Amino acid sequence: MTGSEFAKILMQIDSRLDADLIARAHDCAALAHEGQKRKSGAPYIEHARETASILAELKLDSATVAAGLLHDVLEESDTSLADLAREFGTEISKLVDGVTKITGLRFESRERAQAENFRKMLLSVVQDIRVILIKLADRLHNMRTISHLTPEQIERISRETREIFAPLAGRFGMAKIQRELEDLSFKWLEPDAYRRLADLVKATREEREATIEETTRPIRKRLTHDGMKALIAGRIKHLSSIHRKMATREKSFGEIYDLLAIRIITQTVEECYRVLGIVHTLFTPVHDRIKDYIATPKLNGYRSLHTTVMTPKGQMLEIQIRTREMHEQAEFGIAAHWTYKEGKPGDDELTRSLNWVRQLLEGNVDLMEAHEFMESLKVDLFQDEIFVFTPNGDLKHLPKGSTPVDFAYSIHSDVGSHCAGARISGRLVSLRHSLRSGDTVEIVTSDSAHPSRDWLGFVATSRARSKIRHHLRAQADRESIVLGRRIIDRELKKLASGRKDIPLDDIAQGLGYDSVEDFTAAIGRGDVSAGELAKKLRPKPQLGRGLVERLTRRARRHDTGVRIEGIGEIMIHFAKCCQPVPGDQIVGIITRGRGISVHRVGCPNTFGPTVDKEHRMPVEWDVADGQTFPAAFIVKGDLRRNFLADVSRIISEEHVEVSAASMTTESGLVIVRFRVDIGNLHRLRRLMKAIHALKGVKSVERRRSIREQ
Ligand code: MN
Repeated sequence: MTGSEFAKILMQIDSRLDADLIARAHDCAALAHEGQKRKSGAPYIEHARETASILAELKLDSATVAAGLLHDVLEESDTSLADLAREFGTEISKLVDGVTKITGLRFESRERAQAENFRKMLLSVVQDIRVILIKLADRLHNMRTISHLTPEQIERISRETREIFAPLAGRFGMAKIQRELEDLSFKWLEPDAYRRLADLVKATREEREATIEETTRPIRKRLTHDGMKALIAGRIKHLSSIHRKMATREKSFGEIYDLLAIRIITQTVEECYRVLGIVHTLFTPVHDRIKDYIATPKLNGYRSLHTTVMTPKGQMLEIQIRTREMHEQAEFGIAAHWTYKEGKPGDDELTRSLNWVRQLLEGNVDLMEAHEFMESLKVDLFQDEIFVFTPNGDLKHLPKGSTPVDFAYSIHSDVGSHCAGARISGRLVSLRHSLRSGDTVEIVTSDSAHPSRDWLGFVATSRARSKIRHHLRAQADRESIVLGRRIIDRELKKLASGRKDIPLDDIAQGLGYDSVEDFTAAIGRGDVSAGELAKKLRPKPQLGRGLVERLTRRARRHDTGVRIEGIGEIMIHFAKCCQPVPGDQIVGIITRGRGISVHRVGCPNTFGPTVDKEHRMPVEWDVADGQTFPAAFIVKGDLRRNFLADVSRIISEEHVEVSAASMTTESGLVIVRFRVDIGNLHRLRRLMKAIHALKGVKSVERRRSIREQ
């Protein structure tokens, strides 16, 4: 097929497309992918054509469709970005570049990398939303043809589709693509359940069609009588949504009443409300299930009237009423903006659709821990929403279960952190009160009010949660530093000499802290006792003056091992038997012919017949920034689900690398041994303390090495 032949096919889908551009993009892609085959054996260009066709069906503009044809050339061929820019201009080359960057991301990797990848993807989406539309079309065609891949690839790609791309499509209001992505991943991830459900749906088809006919006939008749033209169609909900309903409600197929939906498409907005009235005179509405998403659209732009009615046979049936334009918006979401508007991005609705992405990326994302970011993303992708009003009548969308605190933070972080109470319709409510759609919420602030740890127990938005955490952390640090300073001053005063030249930074480093401030905070928190501090502040007794001894006191490790400043090549090793980390008390042992090995004080290998006193030598820590040391510890806990995952999460939150781990079980206890690379004793203790705080953890103990029992 030539480019102009393909362009003709696409013009039948959407006649506004630029045939010449499409033909050129096609031929460029065909040349780039010449000789390449998909796993199915089909020529690669077919994938590019299918991707472009999906985009054309979404009625997207010519640049997007052309970029769809070219979406894999940067990744899969020698064509360069400069080639594309020269040939097609920067608009198209940037689109292809954006898609290529997303394609290069791997989502199954460790949580931190995953969070980083999402952030990159969302950043590219904010720059040009069409990038994600192309990516979704690409993913849709890949899912349609996934059977040719290995079981592992099918599993990974289907999972990624279900967890990320389908909800993302939903978030941009593209219900049609979301449904197909959900059903395809359902089919591959749970083939048995999928097959069973598909059979059940097939078997009950006649019955369902009868119900639809019985319900729509009287509506049709009345509409004709009233001179209204409307399209009425009934359909069964898609399989994965039925499956989800069955799972969340723990019901069987026969017990799910809202399998069916009837859709009425009117010509004007005013007719939507008239039709709703007619439906309610013909059937009894279930009164708490009437929803007006025309007056209050969903955050993704969805507009429609929903009502649930009782059929003559006592079945419940959902009816959706909307105009053609609303329908397009409901099915194609953000893509519909290129359909109706003479399509430049930047109009209000498009901006609003992107706001959630911007909010997620805004401000303190860099400070967020990886798991907090992922939590935010999942919350934002999956949660049901409510809408409430400010006293000025501004609309705020919040996740279901939000409280006045969430609302306050959604206005401004200062309002959140000084929020003292709230009024709903003039009535005072508690801060943990669950807001309901339609509430008008007034926040009472006070200068003396501050976030409290309890708030974390009831807030629903990721924004509030991360702001509260941030506040609590900063406050605890401030308090510890003030207290720590007082303790240090007091200890300094006790020193009769009144020395001014106490090298606090040396002491801090010697104990394994990054800065004097960290050290001061540690004293304030009680991590370092006043006694320990006093001992450090007192001048040391003079040490022996042997040359080696004097020079060895500062041991600095280099890439290849350890070197003693000024002595040259005498090697120092950190003993493997006890794995000291900065902050541990250490001692050097001179071993004939092998230099000096540094042990923790008290390590069994530092005394005994082979090590006599002359061979021991005092050494001190003097480590460069960023240097890490191996350290081993052992965690014992209850055998419960996610135990290991929780421990790993804590380790990754502390930014510690695990270099070895092993797990055994013993009379109902899990025993996990870790060897980590860590900067100093303070961090090691903090990590062990955090693991110890996990549910089900019985003990966390340092070991001299990972092999020590
Ligand atoms: Mn592709």
